[in-house]
Amino acid sequence: MRDERSSLDSFIEPARPAPRRSRQASVRWGSRVVTMGGDAPVRVQAMTNTDTVDAIGTAIQVKELAIAGSEMVRITVNTPEAAAAVPHIREQLDRMGIDVPLIGDFHYNGHRLLTDYPACAEALSKYRINPGNVGKGDKHDRQFAQMVEAAVRHRKPVRIGVNWGSLDQELLTELMDENAKLAEPQEPRQIMYRAIVLSALSSARRAEAIGLVPEQIILSCKMSGVQDLISVYRALARQSDYALHLGLTEAGMGTKGTVASATALAVLLQEGIGDTIRVSLTPQPGEARTQEVVVALEILQSLGLRSFNPSVTACPGCGRTTSTTFQELAKQIDDFLRAQMPVWKALYPGVETMKVAVMGCIVNGPGESKHADIGISLPGTGEAPAAPVFIDGEKALTLRGEGIATEFQALVEKYIEKRFG
Ligand code: SF4
Repeated sequence: MRDERSSLDSFIEPARPAPRRSRQASVRWGSRVVTMGGDAPVRVQAMTNTDTVDAIGTAIQVKELAIAGSEMVRITVNTPEAAAAVPHIREQLDRMGIDVPLIGDFHYNGHRLLTDYPACAEALSKYRINPGNVGKGDKHDRQFAQMVEAAVRHRKPVRIGVNWGSLDQELLTELMDENAKLAEPQEPRQIMYRAIVLSALSSARRAEAIGLVPEQIILSCKMSGVQDLISVYRALARQSDYALHLGLTEAGMGTKGTVASATALAVLLQEGIGDTIRVSLTPQPGEARTQEVVVALEILQSLGLRSFNPSVTACPGCGRTTSTTFQELAKQIDDFLRAQMPVWKALYPGVETMKVAVMGCIVNGPGESKHADIGISLPGTGEAPAAPVFIDGEKALTLRGEGIATEFQALVEKYIEKRFG
């Protein structure tokens, strides 16, 4: 036992994300500056699903996403009407006191929209250009240049966002043909990876040649497969130091989309890859668009990269607890903390790092509650109907009776006032 202890002690290192290596870029609106890359925290982005022509509806959804925690919000700019609506969306947001930077998502006609609608180009804080969707043949370079020139003229950064669903087919065909002539050709999947990374890097170099500085360029190469995404981003991070926007594209709905996004992003973020993230969830019928922001925040918080909300540790429950009391209490406390956070953020700095435990029985209840800032161990089946509360690792009191939930919530509130007030 003693030998095992001494050999183990020297090998167990606390896991922590590797430092990021990309250069810093920034996005601005008014006095709001959102930095990305370098030593900036990993940022959260979201995208609206309203018709951009509906300026009021879009502004309302942008506001909801911003309040949920999105630090930049992308809107599609797909028609002249949408481009004309963008300055009105910006005005509405400014009137509502929402200074979140807006990103314009352009495909096919961005060169025309950014040239013909200078107020749109000005109201946006960043442009997303997909090099696979800027025109074919000799139009490609010319139209790409027109968009980058607009960015230079309006002093806006650009995300060069490659997506495997709209990969530059001419480049892919060229690489496939070259590969086919080799004595030992690579697998088609490897060629596709190369095409994706090459499309991003060569577009970035072209944008620099036109006049953007590297700090105005952010790259993304989105894929819908977890292992594909990891492969491509590792290559991208090896090959360049541009700030990287990370996301599993078309992740899907509900649990599948959430788990796939979290799995892919966690691997890369732990390796220090990724400066901004988006979780591309398909909302379930009736589900709020803000769910993608909630998931993105949880990913960053779970990895210990950022803190947004106090965390609630709750056990899954088992045969030792046949009532749903602790599930209800855990949900009630979680909902209460989230609902209060917009106000508490200003009143109680640091409250987002607080840990609350709501546990179902004596087996792990007291231990887990002691590890939390404040925790409660509810009585399991057959246990005495008493719920000890632990504060800062010490048993503070025992709650009994019907009002345990309300009393514990009041204790949590009191603890926050005392500790963070
Ligand atoms: S703490 Fe108790 S109720 Fe909760 S999972 Fe563990 S044994 Fe079951």
